[in-house]
Amino acid sequence: MAKIVILGAGYGGLLAAVYLQKAGEPFAIINKHTYHHFTTLLHEAAGGRNDVDEYAVQLSEILPAPTSEVIKAEVSEIRPTENQVLTNQGTHTYDYLIFALGNAPEFFGIPGLAEHSFLLRSLNTAKEIRQHIEQQFASYKEDEDPTKLRVIVGGAGLTGIELVGELVDWIPELCSKYAVPKDEVEIINLEAAPVILPMLNEKLQHVAYDVLTKKGADIRTNTKIVRVGKDVVELASGESIEAKTIIWTGGVRANPLVAQSGFQADNRGRAKINQFLQSVDFENVFVIGDSAVFIGENGKPYPPTAQIASQMGEKAAENICNLIQGKPLSPFTPNLKGTLASLGRDLGVGDVAGMKASGIPAALLKEFTKVKYLYSLGGLKMVSQKRGQWSRH
Ligand SMILES: Cc1cc2nc3c(=O)[nH]c(=O)nc-3n(C[C@H](O)[C@H](O)[C@H](O)COP(=O)(O)OP(=O)(O)OC[C@H]3O[C@@H](n4cnc5c(N)ncnc54)[C@H](O)[C@@H]3O)c2cc1C
Repeated sequence: MAKIVILGAGYGGLLAAVYLQKAGEPFAIINKHTYHHFTTLLHEAAGGRNDVDEYAVQLSEILPAPTSEVIKAEVSEIRPTENQVLTNQGTHTYDYLIFALGNAPEFFGIPGLAEHSFLLRSLNTAKEIRQHIEQQFASYKEDEDPTKLRVIVGGAGLTGIELVGELVDWIPELCSKYAVPKDEVEIINLEAAPVILPMLNEKLQHVAYDVLTKKGADIRTNTKIVRVGKDVVELASGESIEAKTIIWTGGVRANPLVAQSGFQADNRGRAKINQFLQSVDFENVFVIGDSAVFIGENGKPYPPTAQIASQMGEKAAENICNLIQGKPLSPFTPNLKGTLASLGRDLGVGDVAGMKASGIPAALLKEFTKVKYLYSLGGLKMVSQKRGQWSRH
């Protein structure tokens, strides 16, 4: 029997696992944690919307079949010439491998950025950001240091803008809890590019900008960070902004294990793959999600999104089943459904299936995408469990 190993239980790896489970094909999935966390909702967790731990679901709940083996371990090396994966819990061999270990932060060589900024990448980092911000408010009365009430978010892509939206909606709660004057709080978003949310059209970008600035955010485009120190960000203009909270959301590159394991990679460290999602170097290795670069018909790589990673996961699993059954491989054709960005707890903006939406309708559409994803993982049971938790607050 063919031995299938999946590395990573994020959007790509988990959807591959669900596909194999349904197909009755045995596999092992190796992940750092025993749970799948909802990365696309981490801004909600960091921004005080619901309890952080509610943004995860145990893998054993989604993959209960006896043919599914969940292994909690940290992958340290892949030896594709020997069909081996090395982890902190031992070595695993495979006939087919799905590499879905996601991304690593891209700091663009900005000095001090890695050392002095928070990142929003996991339940732990979401918790860290949330606790840190709350601590600044809690201790503000001791010295009235204004930098405690200043939060800088670097990057105005989906992650940065959604985080800013959550923070501006959380501030009134924090202000009343710790008796802090609301007009002394500053949420500053710094973006080097001339626009925010580059994946949306100009009109929707303006809508997002207007909504967030009305809610109190200070969004600065064409504003390049050149250096970061402890509690200070230096800009290309020469201006320095002091803040006790600096969060970086400005970019990602592939998991470094891609390049370290000898796979051919592009300038962002993403594995080069063919139309069937196989590594161009090893045909029994499928690389998917943020760790791979898939070039579209326009010659440009698809952006790193959960939407693409999930679809790649299903296709990689399907193609492994095809190989096992001696059937021809099926090419990956992404089905782009659009982009939705939340702008806080009750508003949003986006473009879905060619339809532009903003305000409450966009926020409702975003809620619908959450339900759809939960359903794909665990049917109605998963939908009612998580919706119950998330709607309490
Ligand atoms: C706040 C935020 C909001 C976002 N919003 C959206 C959105 O609205 N829509 C959208 O499409 N995309 C969104 N994204 C992007 C999306 O989350 C990523 O593109 C997606 O998670 C990539 O999926 P993946 O399977 O490649 O990797 P991931 O989902 O990151 O999964 C990688 C998995 O591998 C595990 N792992 C990593 N290294 C190791 C190791 N060495 N050993 C063992 N396990 C390891 C990780 O713990 C993780 O479980 C957002 C991202 C963020 C941070």
